[in-house]
Amino acid sequence: MLKAKKNVNYRRGSRRAKCSHCKHYVSEYRITLDLLDGMYLGTGQRCAVIGLQPGRMYGITADHVCDRFVDRFTCKAGR
Ligand code: SF4
Repeated sequence: MLKAKKNVNYRRGSRRAKCSHCKHYVSEYRITLDLLDGMYLGTGQRCAVIGLQPGRMYGITADHVCDRFVDRFTCKAGR
């Protein structure tokens, strides 16, 4: 697992606390490849805390959560 994910205790979430409810969640991160002049490869789910990077290891899942969760509806940290 990516070190950045381990550091924030990235894990399966719950109905109330999950990435898709978090203010750091990016649902459609645009993935491009610099080696091919920024060729567009599609979109993926990413987290602003773990890293907005194109690599697959940075991919997150909407139903997971971590210790840095902040509810985007209430802006309160929680689990
Ligand atoms: S900060 Fe944690 S809960 Fe929020 S989107 Fe990133 S991994 Fe998910």
